[in-house]
Amino acid sequence: MASGNDVSWLNEEEIVLTLARCESEDPGRIRAVLARGLELRGLSRDDVAVLTTIRSPDLLQELFDAARRVKEEIYGRRLVLFAPLYISNLCRNECLYCAFRITNKELQRRALRQDEIAEETRAIVNQGHKRILLVAGESYPNDGFQYILDAIATVYSVKEGKGEIRRLNVNIAPLPVEEFRQLKQAGIGTYQLFQETYHRGTYGSVHARGPKTDFNWRVTAMDRAMQAGIDDVGVGILFGLHDWRFEILSLMQHISHLEDAFGVGCHTISVPRLEPAVGSDLASNPPHPVSDEDFKKIVAVLRLAVPYTGIIMSTRETAKMRAETFALGVSQISAGSRTNPGGYLEDIDENASQFQLGDHRPLAEVVKDVCDLGYIPSYCTACYRLGRTGQDFMDLAKPGLIKEKCAPNALSTFMEYLIDYAPPETRIAGEQAIERELSEMAPGTRQLAERLLKAVRNGKRDVYC
Ligand code: SAM
Ligand code: SF4
Repeated sequence: MASGNDVSWLNEEEIVLTLARCESEDPGRIRAVLARGLELRGLSRDDVAVLTTIRSPDLLQELFDAARRVKEEIYGRRLVLFAPLYISNLCRNECLYCAFRITNKELQRRALRQDEIAEETRAIVNQGHKRILLVAGESYPNDGFQYILDAIATVYSVKEGKGEIRRLNVNIAPLPVEEFRQLKQAGIGTYQLFQETYHRGTYGSVHARGPKTDFNWRVTAMDRAMQAGIDDVGVGILFGLHDWRFEILSLMQHISHLEDAFGVGCHTISVPRLEPAVGSDLASNPPHPVSDEDFKKIVAVLRLAVPYTGIIMSTRETAKMRAETFALGVSQISAGSRTNPGGYLEDIDENASQFQLGDHRPLAEVVKDVCDLGYIPSYCTACYRLGRTGQDFMDLAKPGLIKEKCAPNALSTFMEYLIDYAPPETRIAGEQAIERELSEMAPGTRQLAERLLKAVRNGKRDVYC
């Protein structure tokens, strides 16, 4: 097993050399890489570097078409939905792009009590969500890390009407192995942590104070999480801090390292772009802004590079950008989100939020839109519940077997949502989407889906295969 302190896999020099070898757009090489991408076996770092050179509209279209085909082949039209739950905006760090940074006097500070966390969870469950991403700044009130463990127990304890949270993922600061073990025992799904930037110089200049200044501690967090038995880990880059080409090649090094050391890479990749945040000049003036076109390119390249890894898009992006990237590879989205602690009950408070949201629409509106765009919202949590995580998940995903389970599970969990929570307009759009999906399924999968749907229509809940 790899040492959690080893960072030799992150090789800046190699990335710079690889990028230098791929400065100009070479249509022949690009098309050869796109053809390899369509084989669904992923791409090498050199291949990724080649794709990042694409500029001409024709080749860009070919890249997008290839990404669309891979997305369709592996994920069909499913989009998994979740809600972030911000429990605290207290923080010891000084990340110059974040409203929660310690010296930001403009921010209203707040850490939710356990009863408030339960109330917020109820509000999220009452929207119809089944998945939560628990988020906190790096400073826990009173009892330290136990606050997080208590919050997880609180979320899972909430039963409201016919609903509950069935999978809780977390996005909190890096931990030592022993605390990661406790996180695993608390029943988390994915442990998420964004590296922000893999470029050490940039990392140093935007993290001015606090434990987050330790680049190595952060970049080795996934090793410790995996050593502790958390085999679904989610990585991410905060786009806008450094050159995006450098970042995605570094991310590829990170993924290769995890595969070499633990037999499985990451479960998800998040692709936040810097958004304006209260009290942060940097957030409004990104040093390396990523254009909409490059952003779509990033999603498409990642889709081809790591076809079985989920790509998560948050409500930082506008409804339009979210819709465009669904087709290119995004497989999970947040919806109906608030990024201020207490925001679900008390509504948005920009002065307590982490960043500005690009998509403010309530869940029911997002769901209807997702259906109208030809996708199927999924609230499925089956893999996590059945222990199909880490390598077990990849063993099913890579030969294409997982979709025979995902497709029926998506429909049954979506039907639960439609019956229990959807307003009439959303329900009509949803039922039509389910019919459309059923009509295109292979006979065996369709039979299974219809059996699950019948059980839900008859009042059963939480049925999956
Ligand atoms: N405090 C922990 C940390 O920093 O890892 C976890 C939670 S932090 C609230 C979650 C993520 O929000 C960060 O990793 C960062 O990428 C993102 N973030 C911070 N400021 C942002 C901004 N202005 N725009 C977009 N994303 C931002
Ligand atoms: Fe704190 Fe995380 Fe915001 Fe940095 S990004 S200030 S660590 S909440």
